[in-house]
Amino acid sequence: MSKIILTGDRPTGRLHLGHYVGSLKRRVELQNSGEYDKIFIMIADAQALTDNADNPEKVRQNIIEVALDYLSVGLDPTKSTLFIQSMVPELTELTFYYSNLVTLARLERNPTIKAEIQLRGFGSSIPAGFLTYPISQTADITAFKATTVPAGEDQMPMLEQCQEIVNRFNNIYGETLVEPKIMLPSNQTCLRLPGTDGKAKMSKSLGNCIYLSDDEKEVKTKVMSMYTDPDHIRVEDPGKVEGNAVFTYLDAFSRPEHFEKYLPEYENLDALKDHYKRGGLGDVKVKKFLIKILEETLAPIREERHKWEQNIEGVYEILKKGSEVAEAVAAQTLNEVKAAMKINYFDDDALIREHSEKYKNAQK
Ligand code: ATP
Ligand code: MG
Repeated sequence: MSKIILTGDRPTGRLHLGHYVGSLKRRVELQNSGEYDKIFIMIADAQALTDNADNPEKVRQNIIEVALDYLSVGLDPTKSTLFIQSMVPELTELTFYYSNLVTLARLERNPTIKAEIQLRGFGSSIPAGFLTYPISQTADITAFKATTVPAGEDQMPMLEQCQEIVNRFNNIYGETLVEPKIMLPSNQTCLRLPGTDGKAKMSKSLGNCIYLSDDEKEVKTKVMSMYTDPDHIRVEDPGKVEGNAVFTYLDAFSRPEHFEKYLPEYENLDALKDHYKRGGLGDVKVKKFLIKILEETLAPIREERHKWEQNIEGVYEILKKGSEVAEAVAAQTLNEVKAAMKINYFDDDALIREHSEKYKNAQK
């Protein structure tokens, strides 16, 4: 069986470090490993509209931002198909058919959706499209017969939902859809990178992000004002590393060579943590170290982005070509789905013959 990746992001803002460690970095590695037959990377504008119906301009403005972020982290349009969800209308049709295979109660149980509903303050006025976006994600994944979906931990309930729909579809209509697997980050901290405010998740909606396109000065300012241990007031005070966002980021980004290069007086991260816990190590020193480490990741991304920013027409052309390729693949799957569901009347000669004979015989 082919190995196929489908993954994507909502164009609700520029991409941030959470996206990078949770999904983007892995995508680029997988792309360059040459182990996958096809890679589809989707800008999920239709999904973004499920909770931004009244703000289409936001979605429209951010498509190019996400595309620039993709290209600047190393997603390569000659190796991966970059496309826009709404440009592949077959996905909507699949969503409609799949929605018959899911109950409302099941959708309401989804823990990520529950958290997002709360975060967005929908109360009982939940847009139907928002509650059902996991069905549309299933359409996205299965349209490309994806076997692997690299994503952060918040996507686990979506993948479970997708697997259920795939199994139900195949049970009822015969083996048609491919069951995908989620590929989570291997580093525990990267499953869900916290925000600079220490909140559980760095998220565009929470405004607690370090963006991949932030300049050096912005990164410095954001790190210097990051949440640490509120009880660590004087340098000599003992400090906590659990729940301390600066140390969580070091868990995600620091490597042994960073200590050799920037902080040779500490053997490794454990030694640094021990000193902080004992007292006598100030936040500023740790933050300055983190800035240097983040810059190693962010500087080349920024530079690459500046190059692509000079060729916006070219970026739109990449998305247009990618959307055409994606549509051809999705159309093929949609045909298979409709044939399995017996809604391919005009392609079914046997059906037409059967009905014609039925009435001929009736008239005899
Ligand atoms: P929004 O607030 O609009 O939902 P978001 O910041 O949550 O935006 P998404 O576009 O929903 O971003 O997520 C895209 C991908 O990035 C998903 O695979 C998700 O798991 C991953 N991701 C997003 N935020 C984080 C994070 N803080 N840590 C790890 N992975 C993340
Ligand atoms: Mg999200």
